[in-house]
Amino acid sequence: MNEPIGRLNLVRQRIKKACIAAGRQTCEVSLLAVSKWHPAEKIRDLHKLGVCSFGENHVQEALQKQRELASLDVQWHFIGNLQSNKTRAIAENFQWVQSVDRKKILQRLSAQRPDSMEPLNICLQVNIDLEPQKAGARPEEILQLAELASGLGNIRFRGLMAIPMNTSDPRQQHDSFRKVKALFDTLKTVGYDIDTLSMGMSSDLEIAISEGSTMVRIGTDLFGDRES
Ligand SMILES: *Cc1c(COP(=O)(O)O)cnc(C)c1O
Repeated sequence: MNEPIGRLNLVRQRIKKACIAAGRQTCEVSLLAVSKWHPAEKIRDLHKLGVCSFGENHVQEALQKQRELASLDVQWHFIGNLQSNKTRAIAENFQWVQSVDRKKILQRLSAQRPDSMEPLNICLQVNIDLEPQKAGARPEEILQLAELASGLGNIRFRGLMAIPMNTSDPRQQHDSFRKVKALFDTLKTVGYDIDTLSMGMSSDLEIAISEGSTMVRIGTDLFGDRES
């Protein structure tokens, strides 16, 4: 099972099965291929098989791959920790940023997004299990950040992203994802026009889909173990 097509088919089948089990349509859940640490050639292979969205978490590494793959029509998602001194490169070279967790970063991304480009798609990252070592805004900060995001000219607020605590206890996993979904629903109820709930990775995509994920971010199960 080393071939890209075999891995991709397995992941697609898992998504489909999870959707059926949850009574959802397969087209409600999109696939983000997390290509961090993997070479541009592997992205090219998956792109040939119809995958168009790729996630990266280091700016320099991503820019290098973007140069190598400039001829491909790819949607690039930034999913890593955001430092202020990297926001310009991100605003100029990505279509999405899923890891926004503070006001200053939002303001910089909007100010630095070139007016000639489409608005930058943004998800707010929420630290749903309040883990001290983890990035993400606290749940109670999300409403305020949402208000700011939706008022900025070069930003399009799309939804939430979360990385729940690392546990193999399915009940805990369900609880975490359910909390993110509840926050997402609250935002919709108060009037935000959002469509993206980015949660679920290689090991927990089924549980995330059962709790309402609309985008799963898959690295290991698409590309194999990350090379260092
Ligand atoms: C690395 C990473 C993933 C992919 O994780 P896998 O377990 O390899 O599928 C998803 N989301 C984020 C934010 C990541 O950094």
